[in-house]
Amino acid sequence: MIDGYGRVIDYIRISVTDRCNLRCAYCMPQEGVPSVCHEDILRYDEILRLVRIFVSLGIRKIKLTGGEPLVRKNVPEFAAALRQIPGIEQVTLTTNGVCLKEQMRMLADAGIGGINLSLDTLNPVVFEKIARRPAFDQVMEGLREALKYPEIPLKINCVPMNIEGQNIVELAELARNYKIHVRYIEMMPIGLGRQFGFQSEEAILAELEKAYGPCRPFDKPLGNGPGHYVSFEGFAGKIGFISAISHKFCERCNRVRLTSQGFLKTCLQYERGVDLRALLRGGASDEELRLAVEKAIREKPVSHQFLREQWADSDKETHMMSQIGG
Ligand code: SAM
Ligand code: SF4
Repeated sequence: MIDGYGRVIDYIRISVTDRCNLRCAYCMPQEGVPSVCHEDILRYDEILRLVRIFVSLGIRKIKLTGGEPLVRKNVPEFAAALRQIPGIEQVTLTTNGVCLKEQMRMLADAGIGGINLSLDTLNPVVFEKIARRPAFDQVMEGLREALKYPEIPLKINCVPMNIEGQNIVELAELARNYKIHVRYIEMMPIGLGRQFGFQSEEAILAELEKAYGPCRPFDKPLGNGPGHYVSFEGFAGKIGFISAISHKFCERCNRVRLTSQGFLKTCLQYERGVDLRALLRGGASDEELRLAVEKAIREKPVSHQFLREQWADSDKETHMMSQIGG
């Protein structure tokens, strides 16, 4: 569907849980977030019903997210059920990789269309400092498992934190050695991310060019998102950037988000949207749900306001990123 600013909205990020087995310092507090009880989380059959309505409004691609999506039971089966919905062209997943080794085969069988693996460093000590859980080896096993499925596109997502030993240059080696893309995501001032500064795309690129020589722009899109890419000589994969702050991409935004509690969020930085769980469980018909989704998308904000220190909107996002899904 087309929103109020002429943007085509065909992509949705669906969070299946706000629980996580890591505690990344920019995303989730050490003590976790207050656990939402099971009944408050949308059941899979409820999400499937909503997805049929989203499809009738033009949604074609789905990214499963969390918290950590793979801590919820039966995610591969759920992905397969989503793929069966006529009109859905692709279902992909973003994961921290901790449970990927055990689930990769089932995800492949489910027809998953791509995996984004969040990995901020190849240094196990720094990993534990950032993720605050001793899970580096499991994540690497997950990565190795995913590499056994070259037909499933794999991207590594790293949030540079400007901390000693993170070594974002070393992480780029993954794109040199394997046909996978390594992407650097600018830290966004949402939730705990507000405590950290961001390392700009230019600063990261300068570090990479120092190590690997000059890059060439790569103009084709890779995937459904706002990443843009460059190539380095001799690299099997590309290097990408998702720079919401230094290279704002709101005018090309194609997405909305469904939280695990059934709130349809129309912009990452705003609490604006519609509580679909309340409507669903209040007995709304498919047509009533469709009208509510349509109205929310029509009213999607024109852009984020990350660079405005103070702003008047009362509906500025107050949740953690783990509760939103990234
Ligand atoms: N647990 C899964 C994972 O880590 O991929 C899915 C959820 S996680 C919230 C999705 C993505 O959001 C991750 O790549 C994570 O690095 C990113 N993220 C979390 N907080 C962020 C922030 N403040 N700024 C930028 N990216 C952030
Ligand atoms: Fe968990 Fe992903 Fe957030 Fe890390 S980024 S705490 S893995 S939800």
